[in-house]
Amino acid sequence: MRILTPYEKNFLTKNNFDLLSPALQTATPVEYLVGRAQFRGLNFFVDNSTLIPRLETEQLVDLALENIFKNYSPNQKIIIADICTGSGCIGVSLALELIKKNQDFHLYFSDISKTALAVAQKNFNYFLPDHSHLATFLLSDLFSQFPKNVSLDLVISNPPYIPTKRIKTLDNSVKNYEPLIALDGGDDGLFLINKIIANLPKIQNNKVNALIELDENHTISQIKKSEGLNPSLIKDSFGKNRFLSLLSL
Ligand code: GLN
Repeated sequence: MRILTPYEKNFLTKNNFDLLSPALQTATPVEYLVGRAQFRGLNFFVDNSTLIPRLETEQLVDLALENIFKNYSPNQKIIIADICTGSGCIGVSLALELIKKNQDFHLYFSDISKTALAVAQKNFNYFLPDHSHLATFLLSDLFSQFPKNVSLDLVISNPPYIPTKRIKTLDNSVKNYEPLIALDGGDDGLFLINKIIANLPKIQNNKVNALIELDENHTISQIKKSEGLNPSLIKDSFGKNRFLSLLSL
């Protein structure tokens, strides 16, 4: 049996997981053992096709809310996309907050992984059972399968952004159990982020904004320039650069 940290023990006990289970002979993260992980105080379904949500990522939802309330009135229907959605925790949390504020919206959830997208849909149906008309789920490599005529107002994303050669330095619980496809951002970690930026003009209305999580070591000079979009970095609660804001000028 492995030695559990106090956090792991609490988590397993709260979720009625048998502390003598043979599954505890492996180093599998407790969230995958239980099939649930906390995000913004909610218990989301996760499996090994989705990342386990990180605390930092919770702030992406606040940034999105700030952006929306600053730029739109509740009766304006805003079209949002949560791409590389994984468990869907970002989009679902955002949808819950927008419904509370009576904000009109439609939310596209997309992922390249069919199993991850199924988890996102399961979470949406669990937390928002009567709101299926507000969401569309797309199995899509970034924007490739988005309808041609879609005009997005806001893109939110926590894409894979770890530089490939750093993957081997990650904690075993991450590199041996979490999906590599959700972590590996190519040589500089920015392969997908810069691809998102390159594709934004194709799916935007004339004032699309984007909020994208990135690595603390990424700098603005590495970010692809896009005409009409003003890039800036925003720090997370640990004081590290963590989010790329792209605002339409
Ligand atoms: N923040 C995650 C980690 O540290 C990586 C998330 C990602 O690549 N999107 O493992």
